[in-house]
Amino acid sequence: MPLCLCGNWKAHMTNHMLGLKCVLCGEEYAPDEVEYVCPKHGDEGVLDVLYDYAAIGRTFTREALAANPDRSMWRYAPLLPVSRPLPAAGARLNVYASPLRAVGGTPLYRADRLAGELGLRELYLKDDGRNPTASFKDRASAIAVVKAVESGRAVVTTASSGNAAAALAGLAAAAGLRTVIFVPETAPQAKVAQLLIFGATVLLVHGSYDQAFDLCLAASQEFGWYCRNTAYNPYMSEGKKTASLEIVEQLDWHAPDAIFVAVGDGCIIGGLWKGLRDLEALGWLDRMPRLFGVQAAGAAVLADAWQRGGEDIRPVPPQTLADSIAVGIPRDRIKALRAVRATGGMFITVNDEAILDAMRALAQRGAIFAEPAGAAGYAGLVRAVREGLIRPDERVVVVVTGNGLKDVRSAIQATGEPHRIEPDLTAVRATLKGLFR
Ligand SMILES: *Cc1c(COP(=O)(O)O)cnc(C)c1O
Ligand SMILES: [Zn+2]
Repeated sequence: MPLCLCGNWKAHMTNHMLGLKCVLCGEEYAPDEVEYVCPKHGDEGVLDVLYDYAAIGRTFTREALAANPDRSMWRYAPLLPVSRPLPAAGARLNVYASPLRAVGGTPLYRADRLAGELGLRELYLKDDGRNPTASFKDRASAIAVVKAVESGRAVVTTASSGNAAAALAGLAAAAGLRTVIFVPETAPQAKVAQLLIFGATVLLVHGSYDQAFDLCLAASQEFGWYCRNTAYNPYMSEGKKTASLEIVEQLDWHAPDAIFVAVGDGCIIGGLWKGLRDLEALGWLDRMPRLFGVQAAGAAVLADAWQRGGEDIRPVPPQTLADSIAVGIPRDRIKALRAVRATGGMFITVNDEAILDAMRALAQRGAIFAEPAGAAGYAGLVRAVREGLIRPDERVVVVVTGNGLKDVRSAIQATGEPHRIEPDLTAVRATLKGLFR
């Protein structure tokens, strides 16, 4: 990876972006023409990033990748909307000397015990709780931080149910940027603690994530802060797509038949699809996996829209313990619905009970501790198998999107309390009687 050592990397930054295309009207814009959304459609006009794949493919090859020792998401830099060479020593931000270098490159485990239980031949778990701030959101927030530095901003803001903000606060700390964060007051304490300790200005909104989102948008416009809000910022999908690039590369360029992932706003699943389309454009994809979006039954706006057909949504106040997918107005709805429809996938809903079951199964037979939303993808797979939507011979990947330490209250709700005993062996014997035979 070439690094700019002159310190003035902005002077010769370059990338392979051709432009941005509105998902609603198809209008295309030059990269520096618009910052966030299609001017004709306002906040609804989410943009998709276009690349010059022919130019990318000339130097970026699977052989070059195989020889690259960098395991982080930056190994796919030619497919990202950021400056190349990436900011380096002497610049304000050194991607390779900070926690930014630890984003992505998460392990893909083969989960044979869970596969056996489900009657599947090949099941893999992608553990994205292993990112620096312990969720998938680091992939997107890393891009936001680089874009903010590129555009000379000092303050970055986002609304979040918790993880996107924790990721932004943590990675902004690596770049010396200030953050202003809008989270619903119901966010789990561990996520709020992450924000505070990274030095964010935290605004706990007496309201829902959806209200925090609109408030953050208004504030970013008023104060000129760089805005990371999901979908509104077109580059978040680009960070998130690196997970599907990794999955296919980790499977030695044999794509899985199906990928299961939890869906709230729809940015992750839209991003996974984007990564797969990138690989298709480069001629590196042997098959397009079906994308299965898993929603909490109490926050299933996209599942409902998918079932009804079309791209209109009927917002509902969300009701689920999986706070990271408690979304009533999914902001990336178009990309999410197209991802599922275009790949022949489905939306699946799971209730909170099934999510708690999935947390136990993932931890006890897969050895991964997931937060509720992080386990929802697996809960969706369990349901899909039970309903015959997945064949036993299919290769399946489940993305685990967040670490369980983010929300220990739900973990204890899933397991029950520990045994409390007096400090003597009699108490141990009495307690263990019946537990071990
Ligand atoms: C944000 C998040 C999701 C859902 O991602 P969307 O892009 O909102 O669909 C799932 N799981 C976790 C842990 C998350 O933080
Ligand atoms: Zn438009």
